Amino acid sequence: MARISEETINEIKLRNDIEDVVNAYLPLKRAGSNYVGLCPFHSEKTPSFTVFPANGSFYCFGCGAGGDVISFIRRAENLDYPGAVEFLARRAGITLVLDDRDAAQQKKRRRTLEMNREAAAFFHACLNDPALGAAGMAYLRDKRKLSMALIRHFGLGFAPDAFGRLTDFLRKKGYQDYEMADAFLCGVSRQTGRNFDYFRNRVIFPIIDVTGDVVAFGGRVMDDSVPKYLNTSDTPAFKKSRTLFALNFAKKCCAEQMILCEGYMDVIALHGAGFENAVATLGTAITPEHARLMKRYTKSVIISYDADEAGQRAADKAFRQLGAVGLEARVLRMNGAKDPDEYIRSFGADAFRRLLEGAFRLEGILRNNDITTTDGKVKALEALENVIAAAPSAARREIYIGIVSETLAIGADMIRRDVEKKIRSSDRAQKRAESERIILASQGVGDRVNVDFIKNPQAAACEEKILGILLLHPEYLTKALRENAAPPPEIFFTAFGRKIYEQMLSYQGENFDISRLGESLTVEEVDRLTELRMRREALTDNTEALLSSLLETLRGATRKKELSTEELIRQKREAAQKKKNQSSP
Ligand SMILES: [Zn+2]
Repeated sequence: MARISEETINEIKLRNDIEDVVNAYLPLKRAGSNYVGLCPFHSEKTPSFTVFPANGSFYCFGCGAGGDVISFIRRAENLDYPGAVEFLARRAGITLVLDDRDAAQQKKRRRTLEMNREAAAFFHACLNDPALGAAGMAYLRDKRKLSMALIRHFGLGFAPDAFGRLTDFLRKKGYQDYEMADAFLCGVSRQTGRNFDYFRNRVIFPIIDVTGDVVAFGGRVMDDSVPKYLNTSDTPAFKKSRTLFALNFAKKCCAEQMILCEGYMDVIALHGAGFENAVATLGTAITPEHARLMKRYTKSVIISYDADEAGQRAADKAFRQLGAVGLEARVLRMNGAKDPDEYIRSFGADAFRRLLEGAFRLEGILRNNDITTTDGKVKALEALENVIAAAPSAARREIYIGIVSETLAIGADMIRRDVEKKIRSSDRAQKRAESERIILASQGVGDRVNVDFIKNPQAAACEEKILGILLLHPEYLTKALRENAAPPPEIFFTAFGRKIYEQMLSYQGENFDISRLGESLTVEEVDRLTELRMRREALTDNTEALLSSLLETLRGATRKKELSTEELIRQKREAAQKKKNQSSP
C-alpha cells in the first residue's frame, strides 16, 4: 500500500472529531472541557476513560489505553493502521488517493513551498534594503510602531513597486513561469503573455503553517487604495479556509485559550505585547474548518474583532461557528479603542490582559458563587486557586493572584502560599507514582512495552521523562537539531526509548506527532507514549533546563549501567521490603 500523505492524515483527523467517533462506541458525558465514559477496552463500573477534545486524544486511567482517533479505531475495530485510516476516511467522506497522481501532487506541493520560501526571503530582503523598501519600513516601523525584533519574528517583507523583480529573482533560482503563476506569486499578462509580479508596492505578511512551511502571502497597501489586502488564492500548497495566521507561534501556548483577531496587524501587535496565543483568519470570515482546526489546539477562544458594527456582526457569526464545534467562546467588547492594536497602544498590555481575564474563567467562577456569603467566598477561592495553580507560567499566576486578591479582598501573600502548596502536592503525587513504577519494575513486574525497563529502572524512568517532555515540547528537539546539540540515539539504552527517539529525529522534532508513527508502532506503544505525555503534562516544570539535566543524568546512568543494574534492583527491593514492613503492624 502506498504511503498515505501527511496532508491526508491531517485532513482525516480534522474531519473526525474524536468525541463524535468515540461516542458511537460508548456514551460520553461532559466533564469540564473533557468527556468521560466507561472504557470499552477493560471492564469497569466507574468511568475512567477520558477524551480530550483539545488535543484530539483519549486516555484510560484504568487500563492505560490511549492515543488519537486513529489508534482508537485501530483498537475498537481491530484494524491495522492503514485500515483504521481508511475506515475514518470513509466515515468523513474523504477519498483516499494513493496512486502516482498523489506522488506528483506531493512533488508539486513541495516545489511550491520551496519557491514560497525563496519569495519570503526576497520580500524580507527588499524591506531591509533602503533603496527598495524605504516605504515599507516607514510604514511598519514608523507608522505602525513595530519593533525590528517583531518585524524579524514574523518575517515581514516588502514587495517593491515594480513589475518584474520577483519574477526575475525566481527565474534565476530555476523556477518556471507557470509554477510562479500556479503559486499565485505572479500573474500572466493577457496582452504580452509575460509574467508580472502579483504583489507590488505592498507590505508582505508571510503565512506560515504549523509545520513551519511558508504556504501563502498577504499583502497590504500603505495608504487608502483598494484592495486594502491582497491574499494568495488557493494553490497546490494552501487552502485559505483552513489556515490561520500565526498559528505556527500560537500553537505552543494556546492550550487554555486562543485569541481570534480580524487582521494581521492586530495579531502582530498582540504577539508583540506578549499575547502569543493570538491568530487571525486570512481576510475571510471564519469557516467551520477554521473552527475545527482551532479546536485541535485550544479549549476556549476569545473573539477580539473591531469594535465597529461590522466587526461586532462578524464576531457574533464567529461566536456561533465556534460554538457549533463545541468550543467555549467569548466576544471581547472594547471601550475606547477601535481594535486590539489601538487598545494596547492607548491603555497598555496589562489593561488588555485584565480585559481578557475578565472575559473568562476567573469571572465565570466568581459569577457562579455568591461571594457576598462566607461560604460562597470560600468555595470561589478554592476553585480560583486551582485555576491559578494550573496556569502555565509564574508570571501568569502572579497576574491571576492580583486579580483574585483584589476581587475577594484577600491578601495576595495568603493566596500565593495556598497556590504554591497545591503545585507542590501535585508534583509530589506525580513523583510518587513514578517511583512506585520503578519499584514494581525492579520486582520483575513485567513491562511488555518497554521490556528493557527492568535492566536499569532508574535510567529507564529518566528516559521516559525525557520522551514525555519531548512529546509535549517537540520544538526543544528542533532547536537542539538546529544548534547541532541534539544527543545521539545511543544514549537511550532501552530499545523502546531509542526507537521513539530515532523517529522523533527523523521528523526533526517539530513536525513529530504520535499519530505519524502509527504505521511503525503497536497500539500498546501508542498507549505508553500517550501516558508519558500526560504524565509530564500534569507537571508544571517542563523546561529545557530540566530536559538537559535529565539528559545529563541519563548519560551518567548509561555509562555505569553494567555495574549498577544488579545493585539498583537489590536496593529497590530492600526499600520496598522496608516499606512493607513499616506499613504492617
Ligand atoms: Zn480502560
